[in-house]
Amino acid sequence: YDDRDGWIWLDGKLVPWREANVHVLTHALHYASAVFEGQRAYNGEIFALTQHSERLVQSAKMLGFDLPWSVAEIDAACRETLKANNLTDGYVRPVAWRGSEQMGVAAQRTKPHLAVACWDWGAYFGAASEQGLRLDIAPWRRPAPYTAPVHAKAAGLYMICTMSKHHAAARGYDDALMLDWRGQVAEATGANAFFIKDGVIHTPTPDCFLDGITRRTVIGLAKKRGIEVIERAIWPEELESFEQMFVTGSAAEVTPVREVGPWSFEIGELTRQLQKDYADLVRGRLGK
Ligand code: PMP
Repeated sequence: YDDRDGWIWLDGKLVPWREANVHVLTHALHYASAVFEGQRAYNGEIFALTQHSERLVQSAKMLGFDLPWSVAEIDAACRETLKANNLTDGYVRPVAWRGSEQMGVAAQRTKPHLAVACWDWGAYFGAASEQGLRLDIAPWRRPAPYTAPVHAKAAGLYMICTMSKHHAAARGYDDALMLDWRGQVAEATGANAFFIKDGVIHTPTPDCFLDGITRRTVIGLAKKRGIEVIERAIWPEELESFEQMFVTGSAAEVTPVREVGPWSFEIGELTRQLQKDYADLVRGRLGK
């Protein structure tokens, strides 16, 4: 991703893509003091932009650092970067981190940095999105809220996601479904999980993982259609009883799941309806 043309917004100005570099003694590289976002632009508009910028600021706060840019300034940086790269549709990646001004666990004297990159990105799960994903149960579990800042979109929390994703890929799966420290169903490695049974939607309570912006959007879309949505603890033993399953995320959008380990699901009408409602909403074809 580093050797190409384009522009990246770095600490207040647009720099050529190849020159958007950091030093090897960047605190974030050693100690995971980094937070990030991911959002999509559709027809020139970044969907839920301000919610993403707000979450970025909050994630940094949860890790103990304040960004010297306001939410409005981060919004503007994202729009500016999209425009500079001549993109109307694509993925936008803001990332904030502690710099190289201090080495060691203590980081009070580091400076916060912010970069925004964007690029063209098709379906997150590629061709598998159409036929429905096949998920493996991850060998790693989401940590307890007293173990890590679980509501921050923090780089450090993604170590177990990459490891789980690679583990699943090596076994021929598209992604992994992660359980939490209690053994309850949590989420996929980059998307929230939903299940359908008898026309009712069930989704795990986000008490130890990201309460995704897409998750909340899709819950709203379902309720608008009069569909009941129950947020509760879901145990893997229950997977057998669900008829449909899908995952949601800014990159993943609404993607049907056809298998989790030995259990299979149909790609039903309700999943397709919500997939379409979400696509319509993000492209401005549905009232806000
Ligand atoms: N969980 C994880 C681990 C994620 O990386 C993402 C993507 N940001 C989500 C859930 C979904 O969040 P959102 O809908 O806000 O993109």
